[in-house]
Amino acid sequence: MRVNVSDIIKTEGAGIDVNFSDNLPGLREYDTSVEFKPSFEFTGRIVNLGGLLKLSGGLHFEFSANCLRCLKQVDTVSDIKVEESFVEVSKSDDVDAYTFEGNVVDIDKPLMDNIILALPMKIICSEDCKGLCKTCGTNLNIKNCNCDEREIVDPRMEILKDYFK
Ligand SMILES: [Zn+2]
Ligand SMILES: [Zn+2]
Repeated sequence: MRVNVSDIIKTEGAGIDVNFSDNLPGLREYDTSVEFKPSFEFTGRIVNLGGLLKLSGGLHFEFSANCLRCLKQVDTVSDIKVEESFVEVSKSDDVDAYTFEGNVVDIDKPLMDNIILALPMKIICSEDCKGLCKTCGTNLNIKNCNCDEREIVDPRMEILKDYFK
């Protein structure tokens, strides 16, 4: 999403509303194990704060991924707050800062960075998901299997078990 800021660029304190519903195709370049729903909704504002353009607002997005333990599909709806600043490209000596050139601010990159940061480290269908049996693959949330549980015990634990006999 590219925002034309010509109306506010010369007036300190001036702001414009930024509302859009669109996809962020650049997200594919990020390495994630989740599948994003194509539509992202942003509602916010860009304000001219002297040397900076400040973007703030809320971003709504949805994604699905497989439970780390049982592989079931987990759909997640996420609403995050975004606050980022943009520096005019010629005034930026910080390589990490978001920049803009002329009258156009491209807000895709900061939005995508915020989305990636907001993704959970691990996705599980529920805190007490029992996962799959490591021997036969049965989904232990649905039924139990007859595998000998000792087969999956860590060998170091086996040693301890003998020790406590
Ligand atoms: Zn699960
Ligand atoms: Zn089993």
